[in-house]
Amino acid sequence: MWSKLIQWVLDIFAKPNSKSRNSMINIILFGPPGSGKGTQANSIAEKYNLLHISTGDLFRYEIGNSTELGQLAKSYMNKGELVPDDVTIGMLKNKVDAYPDVAGYIFDGFPRNVYQSEALDRILDKKGQTVNALLQLDVDDEEIVKRILNRGKTSGRGDDNDEIIIRNRISIFNDETSPVYNYYDKSGKSTSINGIGSLEEIFSRLCVAIDAAK
Ligand code: ADP
Repeated sequence: MWSKLIQWVLDIFAKPNSKSRNSMINIILFGPPGSGKGTQANSIAEKYNLLHISTGDLFRYEIGNSTELGQLAKSYMNKGELVPDDVTIGMLKNKVDAYPDVAGYIFDGFPRNVYQSEALDRILDKKGQTVNALLQLDVDDEEIVKRILNRGKTSGRGDDNDEIIIRNRISIFNDETSPVYNYYDKSGKSTSINGIGSLEEIFSRLCVAIDAAK
């Protein structure tokens, strides 16, 4: 009788929990250019076992391989403008579809306008998934310009070396991208996080918000 009871308890713990297995966690890491999204997204991906999808990195990969898509993207990125939505969304969808079995995605640099947000919701909805949380890193404009110019010394990115291009990226963020925060805030998914501090401090603030959204 005791051995049966012990076996029953062992069975319960051995069974994979169907909720944790099926429920993915999908995070949008949001914020102006240079707010630290890429660095933090890498750490989050590692801790929560998520696939980090950076549209900027995907474009730079295409540019590095001199593909047609890369050539097209480059002509916009060099000016600090957004790459057209259909191109960006198609590329993002291909990446998501190529990794269906991950524990979730962390989106970095996407969505960058409300149209892209609606497209992302549709892509996830078809997979029975949703965006769990949008986490915005708050950093003021002057700090951003300083950080990006500093990054430009080593990043080799043309769009990081010219203050006019940097200011154009910031104004596109303020005009076109920032409404994405309100779009997800309507369903209570948006959280704003202080993006000033050490990498570790900001990371732990993000983790608190992710744990609350799980
Ligand atoms: P940052 O966050 O510093 O702006 P990114 O690597 O995210 O750097 O983006 C670099 C550039 O790539 C953008 O200025 C834009 O031209 C292009 N890009 C990246 N993501 C998108 C997107 N979702 N929609 C349109 N263009 C994008």
